[in-house]
Amino acid sequence: MDYKEHIAIVEDWPKEGVQFKDITPLMDNGPAFKSAVDEIVEYAKKQDIDIVVGPEARGFIVGCPVSYALEIGFAPVRKEGKLPRETIKVDYGLEYGKDVLTIHKDAIKPGQRVLIIDDLLATGGTIEATINLVEQLGGEVAGCAFLIELTYLNGRSKLEGHDVLTLMQY
Ligand code: 5GP
Repeated sequence: MDYKEHIAIVEDWPKEGVQFKDITPLMDNGPAFKSAVDEIVEYAKKQDIDIVVGPEARGFIVGCPVSYALEIGFAPVRKEGKLPRETIKVDYGLEYGKDVLTIHKDAIKPGQRVLIIDDLLATGGTIEATINLVEQLGGEVAGCAFLIELTYLNGRSKLEGHDVLTLMQY
């Protein structure tokens, strides 16, 4: 399926010079959204996944239907101060300054095979930080899946040694 026809390209958002890829038209189209999720589900089956991990907020939108379809768990990765129980954290670099991502300390059992899902791979900073959290808990990152990859930002360089699925490339 040509998913790109369901991606809206928004110039100069959230700031000038950025060309934002908006996935909400894809989410709004039932058959297209289902087909995209199903492709990730098939990938997850091949990678023999035990649990899905997704960073907020769009990682929840893509990741949760995959875990539902496979009848496996979903563990959220969130900004600091959002998760209610004991967490571990990682600092990661943003274009300006730093941010912190967290995960519940008991979200992953050592040795579990984890599929990390997000909507889009850009510089790779978010996925790199999420991999760090999973590995701190003893999880094995068995795959990383995204709807969209911005190849010109070379986020894949941060994913060397990991298996990666992307459904669209720009
Ligand atoms: P990275 O950390 O790889 O530089 O950025 C990826 C993260 O930023 C993802 O969590 C993604 O949701 C968000 N993101 C960055 N640019 C875009 C974009 O153009 N469209 C969408 N939908 N998300 C973006």
